Amino acid sequence: MTRLVIRGARLLGAQAADLLVEDGVITEVGSVRVPRDAEVLDADGLVALPGLVDLHVHLREPGREDAETIATGSAAAAAGGFTAVFAMANTSPVTDTAEAAERVLDLGRACGLTEVVPVGAVTKGLEGAELAELGLMARSRAKVRVFSDDGHCVHDARIMRRALEYIKPFGGVISQHAQDPRLAGREACCHEGEVSGRLGLPGWPGIAEESVVARDVMLARHTGSRVHVAHVSTAGTVEVIRWAKAQGVAVTAEVTPHHLALTTDLLVGYDPVYKVNPPLRPSEDVEALREALADGTIDAVATDHAPHARQDKEHAFVDAAFGMLGLETALSVVSDVMVRPGLLDWADVARVMSSAPARIGGLAHQGRELAVGSPAHLTLVDPDREVTVDAAASRSRSRNNPWHGRTLRGAVLTTVHAGRVTHDVRNGAGDHDTERELTNATTTGADL
Ligand SMILES: [Zn+2]
Repeated sequence: MTRLVIRGARLLGAQAADLLVEDGVITEVGSVRVPRDAEVLDADGLVALPGLVDLHVHLREPGREDAETIATGSAAAAAGGFTAVFAMANTSPVTDTAEAAERVLDLGRACGLTEVVPVGAVTKGLEGAELAELGLMARSRAKVRVFSDDGHCVHDARIMRRALEYIKPFGGVISQHAQDPRLAGREACCHEGEVSGRLGLPGWPGIAEESVVARDVMLARHTGSRVHVAHVSTAGTVEVIRWAKAQGVAVTAEVTPHHLALTTDLLVGYDPVYKVNPPLRPSEDVEALREALADGTIDAVATDHAPHARQDKEHAFVDAAFGMLGLETALSVVSDVMVRPGLLDWADVARVMSSAPARIGGLAHQGRELAVGSPAHLTLVDPDREVTVDAAASRSRSRNNPWHGRTLRGAVLTTVHAGRVTHDVRNGAGDHDTERELTNATTTGADL
């Protein structure tokens, strides 16, 4: 039997307790007598959260292993405190069959650093024309429950309706990348407004997102099925979701750390590291997103971690790939912009970054209470630790990190996945970059 004792952690930021973990399960909570053969983690002053769950990552394998692999993405996930990540289907080949989904599942299990859950495509080849093998993917070993054409919008209302009807019997959900292609085409790369006009960049108006979400919540109401809105970026979308929830529509939504913190004006230097889809929005939208996450209108934080090789990202702004890294910095950003100003407490963070995404994605064994009988997926956070982000120290294979050089307060120190330590800043579990990060980090107050 393997035993792990976590000593003195503040559970969800409240009272301190010890946790005994035996063979991957929490077997005692309170004052634990340390068994002789147990590994001990000192968590004095740290906050214990259930392992974080990310509904939206791009791991690039198969097809673009030069940008990320399931192994490097899993390492980045573990370093960010994640014990489960949902890997989007826009790989090459696309995850649109049972075999493709099982392959992603198996590669993730072989790494063993985090649970890698395949997302299935809604339509074959993400082409928007014909439904993919939704039922076969759901019945496969991968038990796919989340379906998305992310990167593309399911813009045909008839396809969206049929997909919602199809997934309803097995409790699936469609995660929609809401972007009306007629209102915001592939070239659209900057929030449509004063800044896009000044910079001469193709505009991406909020209405292109809001109009699709409005249609989709009506389709969800009509079919009685579940829709999830990926990366909500505007105040108008928040209003639509708030209304739909008040009507009892089965809609859930996520927001990314970057949309909670970064604004359109960062684009003035034409640095492609800030090019993302949907684009960074003005501060009025950012404020509305923070409020919506705080009041529960938006259910979850999801990173949309989107690694890109240098040759795809280091271009003139209009030609560069969309997307930014997010796994390793998500908790620190949420801590900095939501917890520090008092918009969320740590129990809320456990909800928006663990239990809610686990529930939306249908993972019964993740996002559980830190209580006897729960699987030992957990994350230890130092709420006072200040970290200056160093892109070079990332476990990701890519370097498109918009947080580079920024100092954020609150950091993941340790991740435990299925009772095993998959990341620990303090003793370097994980990989060699960890020590470098320690050297580069500015540490305040914490007893490390
Ligand atoms: Zn997307």
